[in-house]
Amino acid sequence: MPEGDTIRRLADRITERFAGQTCGRCVTRDPRLVGLDLVGAEMVGADAFGKHLFVRFRRPAGELLSLHAHLLMDGRFVVGPASKEPEWRRRIELWFADGRLTGLDVPLLGVVPTAREHELIDHLGPDLCGPTAPDPAMVASRLQHDPEVPLAAALLDQRNVAGFGNVYAVELPFVVGLSPNQPVGGIDGLEGLLAIGTPMIRRHAVSGPRNTTGRRLGTADHFVYGRQSCPVCATVLRHWNDRDSPWGRVSAWCPSCQRLEPRRSVDLVRARRLLALHPVRRDPLFPRATPVVEPASATGQAGSAGQGPDGLPEVSAGR
Ligand SMILES: [Zn+2]
Repeated sequence: MPEGDTIRRLADRITERFAGQTCGRCVTRDPRLVGLDLVGAEMVGADAFGKHLFVRFRRPAGELLSLHAHLLMDGRFVVGPASKEPEWRRRIELWFADGRLTGLDVPLLGVVPTAREHELIDHLGPDLCGPTAPDPAMVASRLQHDPEVPLAAALLDQRNVAGFGNVYAVELPFVVGLSPNQPVGGIDGLEGLLAIGTPMIRRHAVSGPRNTTGRRLGTADHFVYGRQSCPVCATVLRHWNDRDSPWGRVSAWCPSCQRLEPRRSVDLVRARRLLALHPVRRDPLFPRATPVVEPASATGQAGSAGQGPDGLPEVSAGR
Protein backbone atom coordinates (compact mmCIF):
# COMPACT_ATOMS: atom_id res chain seq x y z
CA MET A 1 0.00 0.00 0.00
CA PRO A 2 1.26 3.48 -0.77
CA GLU A 3 3.43 4.97 1.96
CA GLY A 4 5.91 7.84 1.68
CA ASP A 5 8.58 5.62 0.13
CA THR A 6 6.19 4.40 -2.60
CA ILE A 7 5.15 7.95 -3.51
CA ARG A 8 8.75 9.16 -3.64
CA ARG A 9 9.66 6.29 -5.99
CA LEU A 10 6.57 7.03 -8.11
CA ALA A 11 7.47 10.73 -8.41
CA ASP A 12 11.01 9.85 -9.47
CA ARG A 13 9.74 7.36 -12.07
CA ILE A 14 7.33 9.92 -13.54
CA THR A 15 10.11 12.52 -13.75
CA GLU A 16 12.55 10.10 -15.37
CA ARG A 17 10.03 9.01 -17.96
CA PHE A 18 8.22 12.19 -18.92
CA ALA A 19 10.05 15.34 -17.75
CA GLY A 20 10.45 17.77 -20.63
CA GLN A 21 7.77 16.07 -22.76
CA THR A 22 4.61 17.79 -23.95
CA CYS A 23 1.17 16.40 -23.20
CA GLY A 24 -0.44 15.40 -26.51
CA ARG A 25 -3.81 14.27 -25.22
CA CYS A 26 -5.59 14.59 -21.87
CA VAL A 27 -8.65 12.67 -20.71
CA THR A 28 -10.15 13.12 -17.24
CA ARG A 29 -13.01 11.21 -15.62
CA ASP A 30 -13.08 12.91 -12.24
CA PRO A 31 -15.56 15.64 -11.34
CA ARG A 32 -12.80 17.63 -9.65
CA LEU A 33 -10.87 17.79 -12.92
CA VAL A 34 -13.73 19.02 -15.12
CA GLY A 35 -12.42 21.52 -17.64
CA LEU A 36 -8.79 20.56 -17.12
CA ASP A 37 -6.94 20.43 -20.42
CA LEU A 38 -3.20 19.87 -20.28
CA VAL A 39 -2.72 19.49 -24.05
CA GLY A 40 0.33 21.50 -25.08
CA ALA A 41 1.62 21.72 -21.49
CA GLU A 42 5.17 20.53 -20.78
CA MET A 43 5.71 18.24 -17.84
CA VAL A 44 8.30 19.85 -15.60
CA GLY A 45 8.59 16.81 -13.33
CA ALA A 46 6.99 15.18 -10.32
CA ASP A 47 7.68 15.56 -6.62
CA ALA A 48 6.42 14.04 -3.39
CA PHE A 49 5.87 15.28 0.13
CA GLY A 50 4.90 12.53 2.53
CA LYS A 51 2.11 10.66 0.78
CA HIS A 52 1.21 13.61 -1.48
CA LEU A 53 2.18 13.53 -5.15
CA PHE A 54 2.58 16.65 -7.30
CA VAL A 55 3.00 16.39 -11.08
CA ARG A 56 4.05 19.80 -12.39
CA PHE A 57 3.31 21.32 -15.79
CA ARG A 58 4.22 24.49 -17.64
CA ARG A 59 1.51 25.72 -19.96
CA PRO A 60 2.46 27.36 -23.27
CA ALA A 61 1.79 30.81 -21.74
CA GLY A 62 4.28 29.99 -18.97
CA GLU A 63 1.74 29.30 -16.19
CA LEU A 64 2.90 26.62 -13.73
CA LEU A 65 0.24 24.13 -12.69
CA SER A 66 0.39 21.05 -10.44
CA LEU A 67 -1.73 17.94 -10.56
CA HIS A 68 -2.09 16.90 -6.91
CA ALA A 69 -2.88 13.30 -5.95
CA HIS A 70 -3.20 11.30 -2.74
CA LEU A 71 -3.55 7.56 -3.25
CA LEU A 72 -4.95 6.71 0.22
CA MET A 73 -5.29 2.90 0.33
CA ASP A 74 -6.05 1.81 -3.23
CA GLY A 75 -5.07 4.43 -5.79
CA ARG A 76 -2.16 3.97 -8.13
CA PHE A 77 -0.52 5.36 -11.24
CA VAL A 78 0.55 3.40 -14.31
CA VAL A 79 3.70 4.98 -15.75
CA GLY A 80 4.43 4.24 -19.41
CA PRO A 81 2.22 1.52 -20.88
CA ALA A 82 -1.47 2.02 -21.63
CA SER A 83 -3.68 0.77 -18.81
CA LYS A 84 -6.01 -2.13 -19.60
CA GLU A 85 -8.34 -1.31 -16.69
CA PRO A 86 -11.95 -0.25 -17.42
CA GLU A 87 -12.35 3.38 -18.42
CA TRP A 88 -14.28 4.37 -15.31
CA ARG A 89 -11.30 3.43 -13.15
CA ARG A 90 -8.94 5.60 -15.20
CA ARG A 91 -9.55 8.96 -13.50
CA ILE A 92 -6.91 10.71 -15.56
CA GLU A 93 -4.94 9.71 -18.66
CA LEU A 94 -2.16 11.79 -20.14
CA TRP A 95 -0.40 10.98 -23.41
CA PHE A 96 3.28 11.84 -23.92
CA ALA A 97 5.85 11.01 -26.60
CA ASP A 98 7.27 8.29 -24.36
CA GLY A 99 4.02 6.66 -23.19
CA ARG A 100 1.06 7.31 -20.98
CA LEU A 101 0.49 8.37 -17.41
CA THR A 102 -2.74 6.91 -16.00
CA GLY A 103 -4.22 7.50 -12.55
CA LEU A 104 -6.25 4.44 -11.48
CA ASP A 105 -8.85 4.70 -8.71
CA VAL A 106 -7.05 7.75 -7.35
CA PRO A 107 -9.38 8.91 -4.56
CA LEU A 108 -7.99 12.43 -4.16
CA LEU A 109 -7.14 14.39 -7.29
CA GLY A 110 -7.00 18.10 -7.94
CA VAL A 111 -5.16 20.90 -9.67
CA VAL A 112 -3.43 23.84 -8.00
CA PRO A 113 -1.09 26.58 -9.17
CA THR A 114 2.39 25.23 -8.39
CA ALA A 115 3.10 28.26 -6.21
CA ARG A 116 0.23 27.20 -3.93
CA GLU A 117 1.18 23.52 -3.47
CA HIS A 118 2.35 24.34 0.03
CA GLU A 119 -1.22 25.07 1.15
CA LEU A 120 -1.96 21.36 0.78
CA ILE A 121 0.98 20.22 2.88
CA ASP A 122 1.62 23.03 5.36
CA HIS A 123 -0.15 21.05 8.11
CA LEU A 124 2.18 18.05 7.73
CA GLY A 125 5.25 17.23 9.78
CA PRO A 126 8.71 16.93 8.19
CA ASP A 127 8.96 14.65 5.15
CA LEU A 128 10.88 11.45 5.88
CA CYS A 129 11.71 10.96 2.19
CA GLY A 130 12.58 14.59 1.37
CA PRO A 131 15.98 15.84 0.16
CA THR A 132 17.46 15.67 3.68
CA ALA A 133 16.53 13.32 6.51
CA PRO A 134 14.73 14.99 9.42
CA ASP A 135 16.52 14.87 12.78
CA PRO A 136 15.35 11.78 14.76
CA ALA A 137 15.33 13.64 18.08
CA MET A 138 13.18 16.44 16.62
CA VAL A 139 10.73 13.94 15.12
CA ALA A 140 10.62 11.99 18.41
CA SER A 141 9.62 15.12 20.31
CA ARG A 142 6.84 15.80 17.76
CA LEU A 143 5.59 12.22 18.18
CA GLN A 144 5.52 12.62 21.96
CA HIS A 145 3.67 15.95 22.17
CA ASP A 146 0.50 14.14 23.29
CA PRO A 147 1.73 11.51 25.82
CA GLU A 148 -1.49 9.46 25.81
CA VAL A 149 -1.44 8.59 22.10
CA PRO A 150 -0.47 4.99 21.26
CA LEU A 151 2.82 4.65 19.38
CA ALA A 152 1.29 3.33 16.14
CA ALA A 153 -1.27 6.15 16.04
CA ALA A 154 1.47 8.75 16.57
CA LEU A 155 3.57 7.25 13.75
CA LEU A 156 0.56 7.30 11.41
CA ASP A 157 -0.41 10.89 12.20
CA GLN A 158 1.09 12.78 9.27
CA ARG A 159 0.96 16.04 11.24
CA ASN A 160 3.79 14.62 13.38
CA VAL A 161 5.92 13.29 10.57
CA ALA A 162 5.02 12.68 6.92
CA GLY A 163 5.61 9.38 5.18
CA PHE A 164 5.13 6.47 7.59
CA GLY A 165 2.16 4.24 6.74
CA ASN A 166 0.79 1.18 8.44
CA VAL A 167 3.58 -1.26 7.54
CA TYR A 168 6.07 0.94 9.42
CA ALA A 169 3.58 1.53 12.26
CA VAL A 170 3.49 -2.26 12.75
CA GLU A 171 7.09 -3.21 11.98
CA LEU A 172 9.12 -0.48 13.70
CA PRO A 173 7.57 -1.07 17.17
CA PHE A 174 8.36 -4.80 16.78
CA VAL A 175 11.96 -4.14 15.78
CA VAL A 176 12.62 -2.09 18.94
CA GLY A 177 10.48 -4.25 21.27
CA LEU A 178 7.65 -1.77 21.92
CA SER A 179 3.93 -2.45 21.71
CA PRO A 180 2.12 -0.42 19.03
CA ASN A 181 -0.33 0.27 21.89
CA GLN A 182 2.36 1.80 24.12
CA PRO A 183 1.46 5.42 24.95
CA VAL A 184 4.23 7.59 23.54
CA GLY A 185 4.66 9.40 26.87
CA GLY A 186 5.83 6.09 28.39
CA ILE A 187 8.65 5.48 25.91
CA ASP A 188 12.32 6.18 26.64
CA GLY A 189 14.73 6.63 23.75
CA LEU A 190 12.08 7.06 21.06
CA GLU A 191 14.66 8.85 18.88
CA GLY A 192 16.32 5.42 18.48
CA LEU A 193 13.22 4.13 16.68
CA LEU A 194 13.35 7.15 14.34
CA ALA A 195 17.08 6.68 13.74
CA ILE A 196 16.15 3.23 12.37
CA GLY A 197 12.83 4.04 10.69
CA THR A 198 14.11 7.13 8.89
CA PRO A 199 16.98 5.50 6.97
CA MET A 200 14.76 2.45 6.39
CA ILE A 201 11.97 4.35 4.65
CA ARG A 202 14.55 6.46 2.77
CA ARG A 203 16.24 3.31 1.55
CA HIS A 204 12.91 1.91 0.34
CA ALA A 205 12.18 5.24 -1.35
CA VAL A 206 15.18 4.62 -3.61
CA SER A 207 14.81 0.89 -4.21
CA GLY A 208 11.73 -1.19 -3.52
CA PRO A 209 9.93 -3.31 -2.71
CA ARG A 210 9.53 -2.50 0.98
CA ASN A 211 11.43 -5.09 3.01
CA THR A 212 11.74 -4.43 6.73
CA THR A 213 13.72 -7.58 7.55
CA GLY A 214 16.65 -7.42 5.13
CA ARG A 215 16.08 -11.07 4.25
CA ARG A 216 15.35 -12.04 0.65
CA LEU A 217 15.91 -8.49 -0.53
CA GLY A 218 14.06 -7.90 -3.76
CA THR A 219 10.87 -9.36 -2.28
CA ALA A 220 8.41 -7.73 0.10
CA ASP A 221 9.16 -9.16 3.54
CA HIS A 222 8.03 -8.24 7.04
CA PHE A 223 8.54 -9.44 10.62
CA VAL A 224 4.96 -9.34 11.95
CA TYR A 225 2.85 -7.37 9.45
CA GLY A 226 0.42 -9.91 7.99
CA ARG A 227 1.88 -12.76 10.06
CA GLN A 228 0.52 -15.04 12.80
CA SER A 229 3.48 -15.89 15.05
CA CYS A 230 6.49 -14.05 16.43
CA PRO A 231 9.69 -14.72 14.43
CA VAL A 232 11.75 -14.20 17.62
CA CYS A 233 9.92 -16.25 20.28
CA ALA A 234 7.19 -18.06 18.29
CA THR A 235 4.42 -16.64 20.50
CA VAL A 236 1.08 -16.29 18.70
CA LEU A 237 0.70 -12.64 17.71
CA ARG A 238 -2.12 -10.39 18.86
CA HIS A 239 -3.97 -8.43 16.21
CA TRP A 240 -6.23 -5.44 15.74
CA ASN A 241 -8.50 -5.47 12.75
CA ASP A 242 -9.32 -2.11 11.21
CA ARG A 243 -12.70 -1.88 12.96
CA ASP A 244 -11.48 -2.60 16.52
CA SER A 245 -8.18 -0.79 16.28
CA PRO A 246 -8.10 2.49 18.23
CA TRP A 247 -6.32 4.10 15.26
CA GLY A 248 -8.48 2.47 12.57
CA ARG A 249 -5.83 0.29 10.95
CA VAL A 250 -4.90 -3.38 11.27
CA SER A 251 -2.02 -4.10 13.62
CA ALA A 252 -0.02 -7.04 14.97
CA TRP A 253 2.29 -7.44 17.94
CA CYS A 254 3.94 -10.10 20.08
CA PRO A 255 2.51 -10.04 23.63
CA SER A 256 5.80 -11.48 24.91
CA CYS A 257 8.44 -9.34 23.10
CA GLN A 258 6.33 -6.18 22.96
CA ARG A 259 4.85 -5.99 26.45
CA LEU A 260 2.72 -3.03 27.39
CA GLU A 261 4.17 -1.50 30.58
CA PRO A 262 3.96 1.95 32.17
CA ARG A 263 7.47 2.71 30.86
CA ARG A 264 9.43 0.93 28.17
CA SER A 265 12.73 1.68 26.48
CA VAL A 266 13.53 1.36 22.81
CA ASP A 267 15.66 -1.81 22.65
CA LEU A 268 18.50 -1.07 20.27
CA VAL A 269 20.29 -4.33 21.02
CA ARG A 270 17.25 -6.19 19.73
CA ALA A 271 17.02 -3.88 16.72
CA ARG A 272 20.66 -4.43 15.75
CA ARG A 273 20.22 -8.18 16.01
CA LEU A 274 17.00 -8.25 14.00
CA LEU A 275 18.35 -5.95 11.30
CA ALA A 276 21.77 -7.61 11.04
CA LEU A 277 21.10 -8.35 7.36
CA HIS A 278 19.34 -5.12 6.45
CA PRO A 279 21.37 -2.62 4.38
CA VAL A 280 19.99 0.11 6.63
CA ARG A 281 22.62 -1.00 9.19
CA ARG A 282 25.23 0.74 7.05
CA ASP A 283 23.41 4.09 7.07
CA PRO A 284 25.19 6.79 9.09
CA LEU A 285 21.91 7.60 10.86
CA PHE A 286 21.51 4.03 12.17
CA PRO A 287 22.33 3.93 15.92
CA ARG A 288 25.80 2.57 16.52
CA ALA A 289 26.41 0.12 19.31
CA THR A 290 27.25 1.83 22.59
CA PRO A 291 30.48 0.50 24.14
CA VAL A 292 29.70 -1.79 27.07
CA VAL A 293 30.36 0.01 30.35
CA GLU A 294 32.47 -1.87 32.88
CA PRO A 295 30.37 -2.96 35.90
CA ALA A 296 32.62 -0.99 38.29
CA SER A 297 31.62 2.33 36.72
CA ALA A 298 28.17 1.24 35.61
CA THR A 299 25.12 3.24 36.51
CA GLY A 300 23.05 0.10 36.86
CA GLN A 301 21.87 -0.20 33.26
CA ALA A 302 25.14 -1.17 31.60
CA GLY A 303 24.65 -2.71 28.21
CA SER A 304 20.89 -3.13 28.61
CA ALA A 305 18.86 -0.98 26.27
CA GLY A 306 21.95 0.72 24.86
CA GLN A 307 20.10 3.84 23.80
CA GLY A 308 21.10 7.35 24.69
CA PRO A 309 22.38 10.42 22.94
CA ASP A 310 25.81 8.88 22.43
CA GLY A 311 24.23 6.07 20.44
CA LEU A 312 22.84 8.54 17.93
CA PRO A 313 25.30 9.82 15.37
CA GLU A 314 24.82 13.22 13.79
CA VAL A 315 22.23 13.59 11.07
CA SER A 316 23.61 12.69 7.69
CA ALA A 317 23.46 15.07 4.78
CA GLY A 318 21.00 12.66 3.16
CA ARG A 319 20.51 12.30 -0.54
ZN1 LIG B 1 8.00 -12.50 20.48
